[in-house]
Amino acid sequence: MLEIYNSLSRFKETFKPLHEGHVGMYVCGPTVYGDAHLGHARPAITFDLLYRYLQYLGYKVRYVRNITDVGHLEHDADEGEDKIAKKARLEQLEPMEVVQYYTNRYHRDMAALNVLPPSIEPHASGHIIEQIAFVQKILDRGYAYVSNGSVYMDVEKYAKDYPYGKLSGRNLNDIVTETRELDGQEEKKHSYDFALWKKAAPEHIMHWPSPWSEGFPGWHMECSTMGTKYLGEQFDIHGGGLDLIFPHHEAEIAQSCAALGHETVHYWMHNNMITIAGKKMGKSYNNFITLEQFFKGEHPLLSKPFGPMVIRFFILQAHYRSTVDFSSEALEAAEKGLQRMQEAYARLQKIQPSQTTSNDLQTISNLRTRCQEAMDDDLNTPFVIAALFDSTRAINTVHDGKGTISEADLKELREVWKTFAIDILGLRLEEQGGDAGKQKAFNGAIDLLLGIRLQAKQNKDWATSDKIRNELTALGFQIKDTKDGFEWSI
Ligand code: ZN
Repeated sequence: MLEIYNSLSRFKETFKPLHEGHVGMYVCGPTVYGDAHLGHARPAITFDLLYRYLQYLGYKVRYVRNITDVGHLEHDADEGEDKIAKKARLEQLEPMEVVQYYTNRYHRDMAALNVLPPSIEPHASGHIIEQIAFVQKILDRGYAYVSNGSVYMDVEKYAKDYPYGKLSGRNLNDIVTETRELDGQEEKKHSYDFALWKKAAPEHIMHWPSPWSEGFPGWHMECSTMGTKYLGEQFDIHGGGLDLIFPHHEAEIAQSCAALGHETVHYWMHNNMITIAGKKMGKSYNNFITLEQFFKGEHPLLSKPFGPMVIRFFILQAHYRSTVDFSSEALEAAEKGLQRMQEAYARLQKIQPSQTTSNDLQTISNLRTRCQEAMDDDLNTPFVIAALFDSTRAINTVHDGKGTISEADLKELREVWKTFAIDILGLRLEEQGGDAGKQKAFNGAIDLLLGIRLQAKQNKDWATSDKIRNELTALGFQIKDTKDGFEWSI
């Protein structure tokens, strides 16, 4: 049995891929029944960072991130309505319309965050045959049972042969006390047994034929199936949010051992959660903020719009294992930090080399090593950002004419910034201000134009005043003169 690592610390020394030069990586993707929110951004950015870093280290990476479009039930367990099917029922859509709609929007949001697309993005609903075969293997090896058309994992039997709960550090007793009693459990031998296949209730609209019933796969089954289909019976890295360790990833380990006789994953890696003003994100707290709402500034908890790069920078400022607490103030601080980096990056492209590098700038010589060591130390992005910030002082010194940099040092400095800030952290530094900045500039330009019109009116220059009003109106603006000046809208 493979040993489970839950850390990539001293990455370069300890990370040993199963096949030299190649890395197989699987990350649990979204359940596509709603818009992506801050909680989706964190795993996407964390594993995008790892994907980029592995490629920088020279590995050929096959990155699989799935789309969950069936089998994820309301209670995240074995009970309740399918999340996709519920949305389809409420909106009177075909379930695959819901899937396509939210998948498109997920892709749009990920592209905005500069998250690279995975190598393969398989859908659970496209792998029903493979999932049925996987369930059959578990049945054949005696670790599952059929009950009323559904198939359940026999956890007690499994736990006699394999250490169930090792990833989450739980034992069977802990799990017994944690498992809620829910309707439909009379089918199961024990409350902690989980569904591998569920018989569809008559009202359930997404179902497929199987040897046991017309039904659908259990949620955990898709990742075991698609991971092994595309990456092999053993692969290097499996990632996801910390909230997936139990039951989802624990169940995946059990399914692999039960079906194949061994574990599949060599390294498990989990990003920590995002809280909002100290609270978990959840519908009941009304603190679910979608990425689109961030980009547009449309949520009562937001002081203004925040561009996608601010969100990315905000997430990378924390180590992926730490919790991150969101607040509008924290994002405003991240925005300032990002602007400083954008400014330094723009200056770095403009400054000119001299014969030598002045003594007070010698510290930049170890910048690459600092960034590299930080990334090797379990992807320590806050340290990479701190190192880059330190080098902004050198950039500004040269820019202000208070120091000099040699041609070789300038070339190296530009390369380090390109490698670590642009390619690995994935920050788009060439865009000043992002969406929020563009909006601000646009509003400022219209205010300026209407200010000129006000001035013209006061000077009784009616031709200019009318021209500005008429042409803006023709472009779709509504202009209202008020006591103190003007108001406008589109
Ligand atoms: Zn998964």
